[in-house]
Formats: sequence, C-alpha cells, structure tokens
Amino acid sequence: MSTMRAVQVVGYHQNLEMRDLPVPEATGPWDVVVRIGGAGVCRTDLHILEGQWAEKSQVQLPYTIGHENAGWVHSVGSAVTHVREGDKVIVHPLITCGLCRACRSGDDVHCESSQFPGIDTDGGYAEYLKTSARSVVRLDDSLEPADVAALADAGLTAYHAAAKAARRLTPRDRCVVIGAGGLGHIGIQVLKALSPAELIVVDRNPEALELALSIGADHGVVAEGKQVAEVLDLTGGFGAEVV
Ligand SMILES: [Zn+2]
Ligand SMILES: [Zn+2]
Repeated sequence: MSTMRAVQVVGYHQNLEMRDLPVPEATGPWDVVVRIGGAGVCRTDLHILEGQWAEKSQVQLPYTIGHENAGWVHSVGSAVTHVREGDKVIVHPLITCGLCRACRSGDDVHCESSQFPGIDTDGGYAEYLKTSARSVVRLDDSLEPADVAALADAGLTAYHAAAKAARRLTPRDRCVVIGAGGLGHIGIQVLKALSPAELIVVDRNPEALELALSIGADHGVVAEGKQVAEVLDLTGGFGAEVV
C-alpha cells in the first residue's frame, strides 16, 4: 500500500499535524481519487479547529481537513466515464448521491446521504483525496488547479449571493457590494458577468477598491464615514436597488 502525507485535525484547540496515511483507493464504482494540486484555506478551517463544527459534523478525530480542492484525476471507479486519469478537475465540496428527492430536484446541497470531505470525512490537505464522480468538474486546459482551488468554496459562496442579487437587477439598477476581500472580489466578477447593473463597491481598504475597479466595479467608495452620502450621490439621492 502506498502512503501519502496529509494534514490532520488531531484534537480541538490543538495544532494540525502532518501524518503519513494510506493513499485512498477508488473502491466504489463512482469513486474518484484526485491528486491534489491546490487546497484552499478557509476561515471555516479555523472554526473546525476551535471545535465549532464538532457537534454538527460528528466527525471522528483524527481526520484530514481541507474542503476547497482541485487537482488531477488519479484513479476512477468502474462506473466513471466522464473523467479519466490525468484530467484536471475542480472538486465540488459535497459528495452527493444523485438519487434522493433533493438531488433529483437540483437541490443537491440538501442530499439525504451527503458527505463533506474536509468537514465530516477526509479532505484535501493531503496528496490525494477521495470524492465521487458527481463532485468532479473538468477544468479548461488554460486553468491550473492551484489557481482555482479556492473557487470550490469561496467561489460558490460568492456566486450564490451574487446570482441571487443578479435575478433582481436590470440595466437601470445600481447594486452596492460591501467588501472587496476574499469573497467580495469574486462576487464582483460574478455580478459583472451575470448582471447589467451599475456596481458600486464599498470597502475600507483603498487597495481593495483598486482591485475592484480593475475587475468590473463601476465605482469604488472608501468607507471612512461618508460612504452613505457618497452612495446617495452616486444614485441621484435614491440609494441602490440591491445591496
Ligand atoms: Zn470554506
Ligand atoms: Zn442525494
């Protein structure tokens, strides 16, 4: 059996530990083992270490943390046909069944028998990660796993909010985005792609606003006390339609 290095939660309020573990194998027909090319670090990882997820996830320690993963397909189960060894993939954070009522309604996130690698089962702070066929999405050749791994969660979270806002926005509307940080800078790009509205970004950090303007924001407002008046100014005194 070959081994790999993996970073594990060994106890709450304790440092993570690097350990040698067996490389996971594609034992089930829909299993996909991914050689990790990038694993994002999420604030949730800190919450896990503080024990905030212990009761909800019921995870048994030690286990491997990391839920924002991308890499190359290493091996696949007998039923997997849409990816093969060597394909670049990004990994949707949830493993879902595809057969329950929620999955069949397109509401996979409420799957009755889901697993969440990095949260309730072994995740991607490791050389290899076991996931399932439904969870791997092929990447365009121009993308590298390490560059996009964080989109697997930070990207999904920002997309969820931005797509919801975009459904209400028309070309005459103004949308205020508060914060152009880790999630916000992704949300701005999603809004720009999905919505014709004018984007006003508010942040305390002028450098974050510069980035925002370079990736699609129409206006940047530094939040240093007069931001409400500035947004009113930019919207003819009416305020934004969506915040
Ligand atoms: Zn996360
Ligand atoms: Zn399901």
